[in-house]
Amino acid sequence: MAEPYLSTDAAVPVARLDDCTVTFPDTGSGAYTAVRNISLSVQRGKLISVVGPTGSGKSTILNMVAGLLRPSAGAVYVNGSRLQGLNRSAGYLFQQDTLLPWRKAVDNVALSLDYRRGDKAESRKQAREWLKKVGLAGFEERYPAQLSGGQRRRIAMAQMWITEPDLILMDEPFSSLDAQTRLIMQQEILQLWQSSGAGALFITHDLDEAVSLSDEIFVLSSGPASTLAGRFDVPLERPRDLLDIKRLPEYQEIYDEVWSCLKQEVLNTYGLKSA
Ligand code: ADP
Ligand code: MG
Repeated sequence: MAEPYLSTDAAVPVARLDDCTVTFPDTGSGAYTAVRNISLSVQRGKLISVVGPTGSGKSTILNMVAGLLRPSAGAVYVNGSRLQGLNRSAGYLFQQDTLLPWRKAVDNVALSLDYRRGDKAESRKQAREWLKKVGLAGFEERYPAQLSGGQRRRIAMAQMWITEPDLILMDEPFSSLDAQTRLIMQQEILQLWQSSGAGALFITHDLDEAVSLSDEIFVLSSGPASTLAGRFDVPLERPRDLLDIKRLPEYQEIYDEVWSCLKQEVLNTYGLKSA
């Protein structure tokens, strides 16, 4: 495995939410509190998931860590300092990719470095290396419209990794993919993430995905004003083989434990009671 580009011994979390509440002041029918009193932290080399029913505030939490949304109360810390503005030490992988259709794969990947450094030849060299690492050697000159959904996801991954982030932020990044492609991508992202030493915050409604990937899982309660309803450690060894992990008894055990918490919140969301 390659040397991590980050030191993994720093005790300061790469991101920390301290008692954060988000209220949207004007929703057309008054103010709406999406999440309340959320505290969590992400350490280097750890992958933390937040799971919760639809509308429970998962994206709201990620957007706070990204610096796209300021908490109405509480504070966000990045590498020990209070976050002001965008979190520039983080890389993002969103549900929808944001590739520029008029740029070739290599130019889309180089874009995030161009903004930072301006040495275009060097950016392109690194972009080609990252395209190779995400399995897209030979596709450098293609435009997004000439690539499959899975290949565009790979470009988005290369765009994220090329900036060597301290923290990767993922908001349901695999939900638009078919089940097999998703599994392969999850395995690849785990490998790249582990060799990076970065921290990771992963948002999903899919508990299987959360258990397979995470070290720690937080469950959000149903909204409005969602709080953290539970916190679970995932005691599965790394590296993990995602193609077979679901057969392990330890997997079933932790899955069932988290599900008993999440299930209640999902039922609450739809106004139903547990059977
Ligand atoms: P999730 O990602 O868990 O599905 P979100 O974080 O996107 O949920 O949203 C949480 C809640 O906050 C939802 O009820 C949503 O409608 C509301 N919400 C999100 N963004 C805004 C906004 N900009 N203005 C008002 N309400 C919002
Ligand atoms: Mg969301």
